[in-house]
Order: sequence, then structure tokens, then C-alpha cells
Amino acid sequence: MQTCEFFRRCEFYNKFSQKNSVAWRGLFDTYCHGRLVGHCERFKLYSAETRSISDEMMPNGQDLPPAFKLLQ
Ligand code: SF4
Repeated sequence: MQTCEFFRRCEFYNKFSQKNSVAWRGLFDTYCHGRLVGHCERFKLYSAETRSISDEMMPNGQDLPPAFKLLQ
């Protein structure tokens, strides 16, 4: 399993990667450890050396919905 090259500096990954609900695991397995890594909006910003990225911006570029955040 490959992991996104930016996982150490990605605040989103470091803040939420311990989540283990199906929804969260699906997100990390698809983007951070999966084939859509290059489509992650955070990945694109890190690649462009953008420094200020909200730690609650999801890989799809949207703000993390409160209901999603509550999932384990
Ligand atoms: S959220 Fe995006 S930038 Fe962060 S580790 Fe996952 S794929 Fe990489």
C-alpha cells in the first residue's frame, strides 16, 4: 500500500487518520493510500508549495462537514 508523499506534513491526515468508521477509512484508502492521491486538492496545494491550508479542508476541497467530523 502506497501512502501520499505529503502525509507527514498534512494536517488533515495527522488530525484525522486515526478515524476508523467506514466513511473515514474509505476516504483515506481512496486518497491518502489509494489511486486518487493525485486528485486530492490538498495534494495539489502541497505540490504547489502552498503553505496555509486549513487543516479541515477535505481531499475534495470542501470544508469538513460537522456531521462527518463526528463519525468515529
Ligand atoms: S489528505 Fe491529501 S495531501 Fe493529505 S495525506 Fe491525504 S492525499 Fe495526501
